[in-house]
Amino acid sequence: MNQSAIPAVTFEKLSLSPALLRAIDRMGFAAPTPVQAKTIPAMREGRDVIAKAPTGTGKTCAFGIPILEGLREDTQDIQAVIVCPTRELCVQIADELRQLAAFRSEVRIANLYGGQPIAKQLAALDKHPQIVVATPGRLLDHMGRGTAWLGNVYTAVLDEADEMLKMGFIRDVRRILNATPADTQVVMFSATISREVMDVAWEYQRDAVEIHIASEGDNRPRIAQFLLSSVGGARMEDMLRIIQALDLKRVMVFGNRKSTVRILGEQLRRRGCSADCLHGDIPQSQRNKVMKAFREGKFEILVATDVAARGIDVDDVEAVFNYDIPDENEYYLHRIGRTGRAKRHGYAFTFASPQDQFRLRDIRKYTHSDIRDLHFDETGRLVTDEGLSVEEAARQLLQADGPREQGE
Ligand code: ADP
Ligand code: MG
Repeated sequence: MNQSAIPAVTFEKLSLSPALLRAIDRMGFAAPTPVQAKTIPAMREGRDVIAKAPTGTGKTCAFGIPILEGLREDTQDIQAVIVCPTRELCVQIADELRQLAAFRSEVRIANLYGGQPIAKQLAALDKHPQIVVATPGRLLDHMGRGTAWLGNVYTAVLDEADEMLKMGFIRDVRRILNATPADTQVVMFSATISREVMDVAWEYQRDAVEIHIASEGDNRPRIAQFLLSSVGGARMEDMLRIIQALDLKRVMVFGNRKSTVRILGEQLRRRGCSADCLHGDIPQSQRNKVMKAFREGKFEILVATDVAARGIDVDDVEAVFNYDIPDENEYYLHRIGRTGRAKRHGYAFTFASPQDQFRLRDIRKYTHSDIRDLHFDETGRLVTDEGLSVEEAARQLLQADGPREQGE
């Protein structure tokens, strides 16, 4: 690790207000992350920002802090709008902003997303929130009803912009940005800078500050990645053996289809594991409960589809299992990025069948990942092809300081 490359920035040096410093202290953050150190001053100067940073680098506070510091008292209108691709992310961002605003009792944040009764959201909007965190569809709904007006917004944030635009929200995002004043500060965060992200930046940003946080050194998630070839029911057995061998207490399992996720959840519970699942068919209120319970450690294994889990931030996930190989290379990074966060290290296990070899090669190439093959030896010990235990191999993998710039 190259410690000297990390600038000695502190939150104090960013001239934050006492209320924010106190909240940040209570959240347990010692120093700003690189994306925060760069974004906070730029946003406070009123500049547009386009930031490319991998998951887990602290983007929420990077935009949350300057938004809170810049709130005015001379208006009742919505001042900042944060648009993100999923309900889960929406809830999570609002949560983090509320923690940041713990000592700012005048701050009101409305959370607008689909699947939640509109009445609750109308009540929140009636209270004149300064900040709105929303998914595009529901925000447009409220704009259409005249219950949310963006004509006085001075900061618009697009979080996980690549995901949002890829999910076909580009027209919705345009309509939202078109409803803000022409001089609105537009801030975009993205793990990758896709064609669509560049198009929106070109159209809505002026002289944007570009921030690139490479996924290396301290930013790089520390994840030891492994591969197991097993098929069918053997996967369940292998997964349970790994969970037991490594004594894992906080695990996420990804499946490609809702049906897989549902069945896995049931099977795990039948086997006596404490497990629950998240997929698109589960009602929103239930999803929020599941997320909360998982975050609070009330159960150990969360099984999820990619969409349901996008952007979810749970601390302390010890291992991620790819029960199926993800259909998209980027999903692989998103999935394994649930672990190895905030300077901890984590494990990622991917199950593959012989016919997955091409997909695997693609993932390895795209993600520059060193994924080690694992198998159970005659004595039932989980080992790499070189005969190392998972722990030994992980130590080796995490020490190696190879290049890790994410592919695009
Ligand atoms: P991203 O949006 O880049 O994926 P998040 O904003 O979700 O990342 O933050 C990831 C985790 O890091 C969260 O648990 C958050 O509370 C934590 N975090 C944010 N800023 C800091 C900091 N300065 N120091 C330590 N942890 C932080
Ligand atoms: Mg984020």
